[in-house]
Amino acid sequence: MSSRFFSARYADLTAYTPGEQPRQRKLIKLNTNENPFPPSPLVEARVRETVPRLNLYSDPESTALREILAERLGVRPENLIMTNGSDEALNFAFMAFCDESRPALFPDITYGFYPVFARINSLPFREIPLREDWRIAPEDYDGCGGTIFLANPNAPTGMALTLGQVERMLRSHPDSVLVVDEAYVDFGGESALGLIGRYDNLLVVRTFSKSRSLAGLRLGFAAGNEALIRDLKTMQYSTNPYNVDSLAQAAGIACLEQDEYNMENIRTVCENREWTREQLAGLGFSMTESRANFLFVSHPAFPGSTLRDRLREKGILIRWFDQERIRDWSRISIGTREQMEALVRAAEELLSGR
Ligand SMILES: *Cc1c(COP(=O)(O)O)cnc(C)c1O
Repeated sequence: MSSRFFSARYADLTAYTPGEQPRQRKLIKLNTNENPFPPSPLVEARVRETVPRLNLYSDPESTALREILAERLGVRPENLIMTNGSDEALNFAFMAFCDESRPALFPDITYGFYPVFARINSLPFREIPLREDWRIAPEDYDGCGGTIFLANPNAPTGMALTLGQVERMLRSHPDSVLVVDEAYVDFGGESALGLIGRYDNLLVVRTFSKSRSLAGLRLGFAAGNEALIRDLKTMQYSTNPYNVDSLAQAAGIACLEQDEYNMENIRTVCENREWTREQLAGLGFSMTESRANFLFVSHPAFPGSTLRDRLREKGILIRWFDQERIRDWSRISIGTREQMEALVRAAEELLSGR
């Protein structure tokens, strides 16, 4: 219940519901797509070194971090804006590139924050249904004429568009911004980053939360044509100039300097995903072809939220969405091998009635 002072502008707003962050450490957390491995050792050292300088404001341009990131990505620093998690980059994109004549367009089944960003900014939006097999059909966006937001790979399906499909969309919507949210791209998607020099309507959004083990730090970025990035910076300087704190900037640099550590962990997560996929298929689960660090699963023996509830009783958290089309599906994040073995054992027990 809101107070009697709550702005009438937000009367219809339903806030985003984050996955549960339990106090009990014993639970196996496969509900929020976090990386099961801690950040690289250099991150901790650099954060410590930064603490004595916390009396000073952070660099609003994240200059040093943008420079090393630009070099790694093969773009120029002017093509990048660093943000407080990629959620902030997405919010800036809704604010900057949508209006009454350019509604936000996104799939009906996708990252649950998109409709919230549209509503909080009083922007019109339209949900384009995924096809029956959970595919995004690019042609369904033809003639819609708004600003398109696509998670690629998509969540919670994990399914990805090819780079060719993304490029064809950029060409068929030359007067629309296409925002490609690549939160999960490192786990098996094809990135559109290489196209930002050729398409002035492409904005790629990425995060350090999933593949770089830094969800708690809140660090993300957007990459695109210089003019698009300038628009996003206008949003940054109009809301929170010091959006990325000094600890996050230092940690981000350290993380990139030791990126082989993250690459190794990404390989492990992908191996664990394929192992889990085979095990669950053997138990009769249906799954999409996920290219992310999670599996999207259903089982005829577990209608609706039952699987989530029964696994929770066994100390394992997964994510279920109270949304019409996907009521019979759940999303399971990929953790360590031991965690996935525990998941498979628990599923076996549930199926044999134990
Ligand atoms: C996790 C996630 C984000 C948000 O990531 P942060 O950088 O932690 O804000 C954005 N988009 C999608 C599709 C995600 O799953």
